[in-house]
Amino acid sequence: MVQGGGEHGIFRLKERFLQDDNTIPYHDTNEGDSQLNEEIMQLTGLQEVDLEIAKFDAEIEAENKALTKREKAFLERQGSIGELQEKIEAAEGKRRELEAELADELSRIKERQSKMMQVQTNREYQSLLKEIEDGKKNIKEKEEEVVRIMEGSEADAKIKAEQESLVKQEEKELAEQSSEVKKLAGKIEGQKAKFVSKRDALAKEIKAPVLRKYDLLRTRRNGKAVVGVVNGVCQGCFMSIPPQQFNDIMKGDRILNCPTCQRILYHMPEKEGE
Ligand SMILES: [Zn+2]
Repeated sequence: MVQGGGEHGIFRLKERFLQDDNTIPYHDTNEGDSQLNEEIMQLTGLQEVDLEIAKFDAEIEAENKALTKREKAFLERQGSIGELQEKIEAAEGKRRELEAELADELSRIKERQSKMMQVQTNREYQSLLKEIEDGKKNIKEKEEEVVRIMEGSEADAKIKAEQESLVKQEEKELAEQSSEVKKLAGKIEGQKAKFVSKRDALAKEIKAPVLRKYDLLRTRRNGKAVVGVVNGVCQGCFMSIPPQQFNDIMKGDRILNCPTCQRILYHMPEKEGE
């Protein structure tokens, strides 16, 4: 079987590598190999620094995220206070409307009561009496509604006052946290700056197209653009590298990418005892 033969070939290469007891893969060095090894070493070095920078960025992001979450809760509470205020105002409008209706009804009753002095027939009298009774009933219902509205508004006003005092407290705490986060972010940025300048220096050493490819992979692959291959398995996506490609990686004469995740690969020796 062809593939079997390939695997056997890899096995032999591995054996050879292990015997070499050297961190540089495939010891049969010529000019091209050492250049490649240097390039891979430069990239892994750069990646180490980039991962450190990413940690600083993640720290700042986490701080900002916590602050944003709190700001959002604060704004929501402010919004609920606004809604309560609107509800109270609408109830107040309704109450005024009812009171105007009450006043009208009251004057209608008075009008009828004075008319009653002048009625001639019993029928007229009964009819006015009924109208007065209906009016009184109407007034009673409206008065009850006014009381209900006022009680509701009182409860809402109480909730609103509580929320307002909470908002006041939160506003103070938020301002404190905001300045703390700002201070902390500044401190983190200061620490990060050292790594950024180190990064710039390292990046200058790397050929522009290689660096471009690395940066592209870095953004697409969650910061890890260069990974080792252990036992023929890419340590970025943990997929197997086809035997022929694995051979090429061991040869180390050009930069090779994982066929699955496209990360830049280098050969990593198996750990002792494995
Ligand atoms: Zn991969």
